[in-house]
Amino acid sequence: MESFYDTIKDLDWEEIRDSIYSKTRLDVEKALNAKNPSIEDFKALVSPAAKDYLEPMARMSRDITQRRFGKTIQFYVPLYLSNECSNHCIYCGFNHNNDIERITLNDEEILAEIKVIKSMNMDNVLLLTGEHPRHAGIDYIENAVKLCRPYFSTINLEVYPMSVEEYERLFKAGVNSVYVYQETYHEAVYKHYHPKGMKSRYQHRLETQERLAQAGAHRVGFGALIGLEDWRTEMVFMAMHLRFMTKNYWRTKYAVAFPRMRPAAGGYQPNVIMSDKEFAQTIWAYRIFDNDIEISMTTRESRDMRNHFVSLGITSMSAGSKTDPGGYSKVEEELEQFIINDNRNEVEMEAMVRSQGYDVVYKDWDKILN
Ligand code: SF4
Repeated sequence: MESFYDTIKDLDWEEIRDSIYSKTRLDVEKALNAKNPSIEDFKALVSPAAKDYLEPMARMSRDITQRRFGKTIQFYVPLYLSNECSNHCIYCGFNHNNDIERITLNDEEILAEIKVIKSMNMDNVLLLTGEHPRHAGIDYIENAVKLCRPYFSTINLEVYPMSVEEYERLFKAGVNSVYVYQETYHEAVYKHYHPKGMKSRYQHRLETQERLAQAGAHRVGFGALIGLEDWRTEMVFMAMHLRFMTKNYWRTKYAVAFPRMRPAAGGYQPNVIMSDKEFAQTIWAYRIFDNDIEISMTTRESRDMRNHFVSLGITSMSAGSKTDPGGYSKVEEELEQFIINDNRNEVEMEAMVRSQGYDVVYKDWDKILN
C-alpha cells in the first residue's frame, strides 16, 4: 500500500496555499452544506473567505460535538519524564544546544510525581519526554509506563517516533494512545527547523502514525506547530493526513491538536501568528470536516480561550499542568518546555467546566469499554 508520504510527495506547497486563498464565499457555503466534506471543502473552511461564516461554523461545531461526545470534557494531565533531547529543533527550549539543566526522572521521582497527580484526582496521564533514545529510550519509557499502570486507567505518550515492534511492546505494557507532532508538513523547509538529530528525517516522522496503526494503537494523535509556516496550508496537509489514516486504518481513533507557539528558553519568535479568531475557525473547520475527531486544548491557550471553547468543539483539556520534569513534586519551576498560559489548578478548571453545564470526565471510558 502507498504510504501517506507517497501520496503527498509530489504536491506543491505554494499551489496548495494558493488554492486555499482563492476559495470564495460560495465554496464556503458549499462546504457548510456538504454531507461528507472533502479536502476541497476543508480548504474553504480554513480559507480567509470563511471569516464571515464563523457564527454558523461555531453553531455547527457545538451541535456536532454534543451529538457525538455529549456535554463532556475529558481531563488529562501531562507528566514530563525527561528534558534530555538529542534534536536541534530551532524553536524549542529543550533543544540539544540550549544550556539548561537536564533531568531524567528516576523511579523514585516518577512515583513522587504520580503521588501528587493522583491527589489531584487525575486518571488520564500523558507521559512526555524530549527525544533522546540513550537517556529516555524504549526501555526507560516502558518502565515508566509500568510504574504508572497501577495508578491510571489511561496512559498516553508523546515521545520520539519508534518502530512497529517498539510500539507493540509499549501497547503490551499498557499504553493507550500515542501523539506525534509533525511540526511542519512543509518538506522543503522541514530541515531548516530540524537541522540535526533523528527528528531531521521528515519521511520517517511523517509515517509514524502508520506504524502506530499497524502496531494496533487504540488512538493516534496528529499535530502541527502553529508559528512556523502558513497555518492554513499546514492544516490542509494535516487534514489530508487524517483522511488518509481514517480511510486506510479505520479501526484506530484519531485526535488532533494545533499548539500555538509560546515563549520558551532560547527565545525563538514565531514566523506566523494565528489569531484567536483563526484558532477558533480551525477548531470548527476540523469538527465539521470530521465529526469523530478528538480535539484537545492545552494550557498554551489563555484562560479566556479555554473557558470559551468548552462548549464549542473541543473534547479534552489538560488541567493543573506542569511542563518541567519533577514539576509536581518540587517547588521551583525553571525548566519548562514552554510557559503556561492558564495556571488554574484542576479544582478551578472543573468548576469552570461545570458552570457551563458540562461534565468533567476523568476516566477514559471509551478505552475501557473497548
Ligand atoms: S521539540 Fe521535542 S524533539 Fe525538538 S528539541 Fe524540543 S523536545 Fe527535542
